[in-house]
Amino acid sequence: MEPTDALAALLTAAFLAALGLVVTGWIWGPAVVAGLRRARVRRQPFPRAWREVLRQRMPAFARLPADVQLQLKKHAQVLIAEKPFIGCAGLAITDEMRVLVAVQASLLLLNRHAGYFGNLRQILIYPGAFVVARQTADGSGLTHDTRRALAGESWQQGQVLLSWDDVLTGAADPQDGQNVVLHEFAHQLDQEAGAANGAPWLAGRERRARWARVMNTEFSRLREGLAGGEPGLFGDYAASEPAEFFAVATEIFFERPLELAQVHPALYFELQQYYRADPLHWLESSPIMARTGPVVGAGFESNPFRKERDRTDVWPLRS
Ligand SMILES: [Zn+2]
Repeated sequence: MEPTDALAALLTAAFLAALGLVVTGWIWGPAVVAGLRRARVRRQPFPRAWREVLRQRMPAFARLPADVQLQLKKHAQVLIAEKPFIGCAGLAITDEMRVLVAVQASLLLLNRHAGYFGNLRQILIYPGAFVVARQTADGSGLTHDTRRALAGESWQQGQVLLSWDDVLTGAADPQDGQNVVLHEFAHQLDQEAGAANGAPWLAGRERRARWARVMNTEFSRLREGLAGGEPGLFGDYAASEPAEFFAVATEIFFERPLELAQVHPALYFELQQYYRADPLHWLESSPIMARTGPVVGAGFESNPFRKERDRTDVWPLRS
C-alpha cells in the first residue's frame, strides 16, 4: 500500500469513527443526560416538610414496606423536578400538592424502569371538581352539548387534570378503591401507546394477547354482572369502555388488592405483572390483614386463567 493510500484509509476510518460517535451521541445523548440529572435529583434528601405532608395527608404511606417507601420518595422527587404543576381557577400550587400527587402517581412506576410518564408535560390542579363542556354525537347524527363535573381527566397531548379536593380524599382513604391520581395516571400510561384503549404498552406479542384475553373476559363479566344488577368490585363506570376499566382496575389493584386477588385472580395477576408490584403483600402487617387472615389459595399462581370462558372479544389488541 502506498503511503497516500494508507493515509486515505486512516482518514476514512477516523471519519467513520467520528460519525459513529456523533450518531450514537445524538441517539443516546438525551437519555444519558436525563439519567445523570435524575440520579442527581434522587441523591438529594427527601425534605422534612415533605415527609410531614405524607404523615398528615397520606397515613397509609407509613405502613408500606420500607423499600417501597424509599422508591416512592425517589420517584416523586424526579417527577416534581421534571413536571410543571399549574394551578387553575385561582389555585396557588404548594409543595403539599406536588408531594401528594407525585408520591401517589409513583405507585405506578415502582420497579418498572419505564421512565417517568414520558408523554406527560403538565399537571393541572383545580381547587375542586371542575366542569367540562363537550359535544357528543348520537347515533342519529345529532350533536349534544353536555356539561359534566369531573374529579380528574387525562389528555393524550400530555396533561393530567386533577381536583385537589379529590386528591386529598383519595390519599386519606387508601382502602375505598377510589383514587383519582391512580386513575388519571393509569390513563397516561395507556396513552403512551396511542389513544387510551385499555391496552398499555407491553413487551411481547404473547403477553399482549394474554392481556387482551384476560381483560376481555373480566370486562364482559362485569357487563354481564351489571346487566343482572350486580355492580361487583368495579361499578358501572368501569363498564363504559376498556380505557375506564383499566383505570378503575388500577385503583382497585392498589387499594383493594385482597378482594381483587380473591374474586378476580387472573386480573390481579396481569396487573401485578404489569405494575411489577404486589400490594397484596404490602398488607401483611396492616390491620386489614389481621382481620381477614393471610391470603391463601387465591390460586392465580397455579392457574391464572382458569376462569376464562369463550366470549365475544371487545378488547383492543395492540400489534
Ligand atoms: Zn377515566
